[in-house]
Amino acid sequence: MDAFRANPQRYDSLMTYKKCGNSGLKIPLISLGLWHNFGGMDSLDNHKELICTAFNAGITHFDLANNYGPPPGSAEKNFGRLLKSDLKNHRDECVISTKAGYGMWEGPYGDWGSRKYLISSLDQSLQRMNLDYVDIFYHHRPDPETPLEETMGALDQIVRSGKALYVGISNYSAALGIQAQKILKDLGTPSIIHQLRYNLLDRSAEARVLPELMKAGMGSIVFSPLAQGILSDRYLKCIPANSRASKVNFSDLNKTFIEDRLPLINQLNALANKRSQSLAQMALAWCLRRPEVTSVLIGASSAEQLKANIDCLNNLSFSEDCLKSIDKLLSQEAH
Ligand code: NDP
Repeated sequence: MDAFRANPQRYDSLMTYKKCGNSGLKIPLISLGLWHNFGGMDSLDNHKELICTAFNAGITHFDLANNYGPPPGSAEKNFGRLLKSDLKNHRDECVISTKAGYGMWEGPYGDWGSRKYLISSLDQSLQRMNLDYVDIFYHHRPDPETPLEETMGALDQIVRSGKALYVGISNYSAALGIQAQKILKDLGTPSIIHQLRYNLLDRSAEARVLPELMKAGMGSIVFSPLAQGILSDRYLKCIPANSRASKVNFSDLNKTFIEDRLPLINQLNALANKRSQSLAQMALAWCLRRPEVTSVLIGASSAEQLKANIDCLNNLSFSEDCLKSIDKLLSQEAH
């Protein structure tokens, strides 16, 4: 593949940047996650095309975790390679995040939220990406067995040691997130961002998490805004070959879950078409309509998907009627 040339117009594109909560850090309305498609078995050329396409469209935020792959750790390694080969002159234009909180290595110190795990895991992530620091380090999920003070103390120590510039939390409830924020604020390292699931098929975060954490000064970056691809026109008739759903079987991405929702997906698709958008574009714009949402964190298996999704920025506004129609469809589904 040819050497990467950054598009000089990348900051004149449709992309806009929004502050993370009360912090001074701005992230793009669309961020790219490396959970899938960046592992050891995926094509290196495709990795490069995805990252370069994103960067050239003004996507400055790349989200990783210690365990992304498979095998775990390979997404960080592959991203580290691209940073060295293609983005080496652009490190200061990127917000790179990683996380720890799920099982990463054997024994009692490779999972959850102890100080021991978080600090060693970040050291390993930095080594894999060949970085001195990440921009945001997250605790990936709450740990019921470790005192919150210890987990948040580890995040504070990580910032003080210069290995992360900011910290965040992920998959926390509103109440726990507020407690975590209080501890971190008292230590002098406020959590600037919460990473959570939010999409047309799962709007549970609207009740408390989104509004309450915004009130506490945190931004929200929402993952799986396309429900892992289900909210796209690929799923109108059946589970398509080569799609994520045809390859993996997560508890929230199984055949029955999707098949039960095909009528709803078709009705949402018709609404999207009335807006002259694809279903994926409307699904992203719908998440971004909430003032609490700082960024939608998308995945993509091809540069074409990524470009099409970025085009959602051409139409982010919704009429009251359209929002009501969407609400009606979603509430029928809930019953
Ligand atoms: P999405 O909901 O955006 O799903 C992405 C997948 O949808 C793609 O890989 C592709 O799958 C399909 N897709 C994307 N665009 C289109 C399109 N235009 N038409 C058709 N299909 C499309 O997000 P993810 O679930 O991938 O999550 C995004 C990121 O969020 C992750 O990479 C990770 O960084 C983060 N995350 C964080 C979690 C946490 O606990 N903190 C949990 C989950 C994710 P395909 O083509 O293969 O079918």
